[in-house]
Amino acid sequence: MGEFDLIARYFHRPVHRAALGVGDDCALLRIAAGQQLAVSSDMLVQGRHFLEGDDPDAVGHKALAVNLSDLAACGARPLAFTLALALPLADASWLEPFSQGLLALADAHDCELVGGDTTGGPLTICITVFGEVPASGTNSQALLRSGARPDDDLYVSGTLGDARLALEAMRGQWKLPDSVLDAANRRLHRPTPRVALGLALRGIASAAIDVSDGLLGDLGHVLAASGVGACIQTAAVGRLMACSGAALDALVPQPHQLACVLAGGDDYELVFTAAPDRRAAVAAAAHASATMVTRIGQIESAAGVRVVDADGDPVSGDWRSFDHFA
Ligand code: ADP
Ligand code: MG
Repeated sequence: MGEFDLIARYFHRPVHRAALGVGDDCALLRIAAGQQLAVSSDMLVQGRHFLEGDDPDAVGHKALAVNLSDLAACGARPLAFTLALALPLADASWLEPFSQGLLALADAHDCELVGGDTTGGPLTICITVFGEVPASGTNSQALLRSGARPDDDLYVSGTLGDARLALEAMRGQWKLPDSVLDAANRRLHRPTPRVALGLALRGIASAAIDVSDGLLGDLGHVLAASGVGACIQTAAVGRLMACSGAALDALVPQPHQLACVLAGGDDYELVFTAAPDRRAAVAAAAHASATMVTRIGQIESAAGVRVVDADGDPVSGDWRSFDHFA
């Protein structure tokens, strides 16, 4: 199968939102009046972000999910994406399930594949997503990292820490029972981008970011951009893993579970802030988007993050977030 057969077979689909999709030198997107274009790219490299034996359907899902997660963090509605692929060979047994996993998630979010590039090389998947956010003049409804204010509540969506636990189990650090391992693996391989929540939080959240490198590290970007600090209550985050429960407690000590939640990474949940008088609005947004949301602390004026127990006493640990070059 040649380059153009490959594109035609797996990636050329009719478009209905875009004015022009795959097949010309550029795709053409329609931008409605009163909307800004939100753009984000994320790259997945085999051996670093996923492994050779990983289910290609899940790799396709995750490649788009991590990009949609960035749109979610900005409160942007997905429109379209491009796919740049480096492939060692044109292997139908990989491309078929990969494209299925990718395009199933794309369809679920009505986000069209409109173009890309295909080349030989070590397996690398780079996606650029395009979304829209309402704006009038210089006034954008996008959720940004810079809007957190002292006394704002601090929230996270969904569950945190499972992806890291699954990774450690894979490396042989923990021997987990199947029920725990399945829940953790699902979160590692099939993250759920919180697009509906991001949209529902427009006009409610004061700041937002998605968790890719770890809660503390990504929260740190919000704090730096906003010029504030934060306090996190361990009582609120201690049970935030999807695989939390007695079976996990029997095997993995609580401080280690806490480390997975605070610094695990690969979660693709939203961390966001909102003024305390918006609690009912946050609950309504969570309900409307059918997404679990947990209040885990507050924004403070003093810089840095304090992690405290139920008595308000500081809790310490090694919670470094992931950094590709550290
Ligand atoms: P050009 O050389 O003009 O950049 P290409 O020959 O690389 O165009 O690609 C042909 C068409 O196929 C273009 O419309 C391009 O956007 C699209 N395309 C290439 N690779 C992919 C891919 N992996 N997924 C979707 N569209 C692709
Ligand atoms: Mg090209």
